[in-house]
Amino acid sequence: MKALVYHGPGKKALDECPKPDIAARTDAIVKIVKTTICGTDLHILKGDVPTCASGRILGHEGIGVVDKVGSAVTAFQTGDRVIVSCISSCGKCDYCRRGMYSHCVDGGWILGNKIDGTQAEYVRIPFADTSLYRIPAGADEDALV
Ligand SMILES: [Zn+2]
Ligand SMILES: [Zn+2]
Repeated sequence: MKALVYHGPGKKALDECPKPDIAARTDAIVKIVKTTICGTDLHILKGDVPTCASGRILGHEGIGVVDKVGSAVTAFQTGDRVIVSCISSCGKCDYCRRGMYSHCVDGGWILGNKIDGTQAEYVRIPFADTSLYRIPAGADEDALV
């Protein structure tokens, strides 16, 4: 698949990368329909974000269609149209239970930072049940992204 890959400060490329697969039972694979960049991506590209290593697929915002789900995912199935949250949330740790998802001990802002992100044809979403949001019927996906 095609993906936008960070290759160190000031360097990026549209590369051919392997399609992601389910790595944990709580994962979903989402086919990206729309994505965008934000100021944080520009900070990464300047070299301001040391947690983001060279070789990382960028992007942490997206609209997509669920391609595949792990065996523990119950809230989504193949074909569901979803919003990808920039914040991955396990839904179970102390921080998640208090609604402080960005501090999730296994999640938080990891997409396009510590794990491969959404500026790609497909993305692996950890903790899919608590990190994806269903798109209401008839919603304007351009507005949602
Ligand atoms: Zn952002
Ligand atoms: Zn958590």
